[in-house]
Amino acid sequence: MQDEKKKELTGLTLREITDWAGTFGFPSFRGKQILRWIHQGADFDEMTNLPKDMREKLKETAVAQPVSIQMIRKSELDGTVKFLYSLKDGNCVEGVLMRYRFGISLCISTQVGCRMGCRFCASTLEGRIRDLTAGEMLGEILAANRYLAENGENGKVSHVVLMGSGEPLDNYDQVIRFLRLLREEEGIRISLRNVSLSTCGIVPRMYDLAKEKLPVTLCVSLHAPNDMIRRQTMPVANTWTIREILEACRNYIRETGRRVIFEYALADGVNAGRKEAEELAELLRGMQCHVNLIPLNEVRERHLKGVSEETVREFMRILENRHISVTRRREMGDDIEGACGQLRRKVIGG
Ligand code: SAH
Repeated sequence: MQDEKKKELTGLTLREITDWAGTFGFPSFRGKQILRWIHQGADFDEMTNLPKDMREKLKETAVAQPVSIQMIRKSELDGTVKFLYSLKDGNCVEGVLMRYRFGISLCISTQVGCRMGCRFCASTLEGRIRDLTAGEMLGEILAANRYLAENGENGKVSHVVLMGSGEPLDNYDQVIRFLRLLREEEGIRISLRNVSLSTCGIVPRMYDLAKEKLPVTLCVSLHAPNDMIRRQTMPVANTWTIREILEACRNYIRETGRRVIFEYALADGVNAGRKEAEELAELLRGMQCHVNLIPLNEVRERHLKGVSEETVREFMRILENRHISVTRRREMGDDIEGACGQLRRKVIGG
C-alpha cells in the first residue's frame, strides 16, 4: 500500500486506534499498547510486545511515524537545535528546540508554507503548499524526542509553541485535534498549560478557540500600534482591525482566565520609534497581557531592517514606565538560521 493511503496512527485517539485495530480482530488492550509505542516515537519493528504477524499487518496498512528528521543544525552558542523535518509526501517543514531552565521547548510548524503574506516572514514567500495533519504535528514532537534520546541528551520536550511555519488558526480543525492528542490517555501527556499558540489575528477563529476551553496561551502577532502601520506589513490587517483583535483577546481572557501575549517585532523606521511605543502602551493599558519584543530577524528576500540595541531598550523602557509587562525575546540559535522558514528555503533552493 502507498504511504499516502495508509492510516496515520499519530493522528488517532486511543479510542480510534482501538476501534481500528479491532477491525483486524485485535483485542482492545492492543490499542493501548500501540498508542503507547507510537507516542514513544517507535516504529512497528520496535513494538516488541506485539506478535510478529500483528506487526506485519500494521506495517502494511499504517504509518507509525509520519515525520523524520532530514537535517539538524545545532547552535554552538546556546544548544538550540534546528530541525528540518521531512514528511511522507516529500514536503519539509522546520522546527526549533530550545532549552530553558523550566524545560525543553519545541517550536512546531502547522502548515507547509503559509498564505498570510506577512512582509517580514520567510515562511510565506511561496504561499501555502498544504496544511499539516494533527498526526504530523504530533510527529514533529515525537521525532524531536527521538533525537534527544538517540543523542544521549537529557529530557524530553515539555513545552510546545505553535510558532513555526504556517498560521495555526488557518488550519483550525487539525490544530485542535493535535492539542487534544497531547493529553490523550497513555500518550505523550504534555499539559496544555505548557502550550502556546500564535496567530496573526484571525478574529473569528480566536472566538472559536476561546469556546474550546483549552488552557493554551494565546499569542498574537501584533507588530504595530495602529492599523495604518499594521497594514504596511501584514495583509491580514486589511480584513480585521486591531480593535477587533483586542476585543477577541479580551473575550479569550474572560473565557480562559489566561493572559494574552502580544508579539511585536521591531523594524527600523516602521514601528520602533518612541511615538509607536507610547501608542502601543496606550492601546494595551489595563489589559491582562504581556508584550514580547522581538528584534526583527532580517530575511534576505525581505527589505525590512532590524533595530539597534539602543532602540530596543528605549522601546522597552517606555512600555515599562507605563506599567505594561514586557520582555524581549531571547535571541536563540542566531548562528543556525533560527528564524521561521530560513533553513527550509536554503535547502529547497529559495
Ligand atoms: N502565523 C502565526 C504563527 C507564526 S509565529 C503568527 O503569525 O503568529 C512566528 C512569529 O515570528 C510571529 O510572531 C511572526 O510574526 C514572527 N516573525 C516572522 N518572521 C519574522 C522575522 N523575520 N523577524 C522576527 N519575527 C518574525
